[in-house]
Amino acid sequence: MFRRRRLTCQQVVELVTEYLDEVMEPQRRARFEAHLDGCDGCTAYLAQFRTTVAVVGHLDVGDVPAPVMSELLSAFRNWTDDRDGA
Ligand SMILES: [Zn+2]
Repeated sequence: MFRRRRLTCQQVVELVTEYLDEVMEPQRRARFEAHLDGCDGCTAYLAQFRTTVAVVGHLDVGDVPAPVMSELLSAFRNWTDDRDGA
């Protein structure tokens, strides 16, 4: 269940398809966008995911193999680290 807290990056990644399908509840959507506001990593991830969907036509998070997913997750963790150093 979702609590009244900021979403984690992991949750944002899991919700990306729902967000892009525009089936997300307004409240949850607002929290999703609030996270994007403060997180360059997830903003970049969303942009990348959008591009992928545009190219492939359709993509579910369930279609992304776990190793690829963890690679993506660690990739944007690094981006966040870079941002801290900037
Ligand atoms: Zn994030």
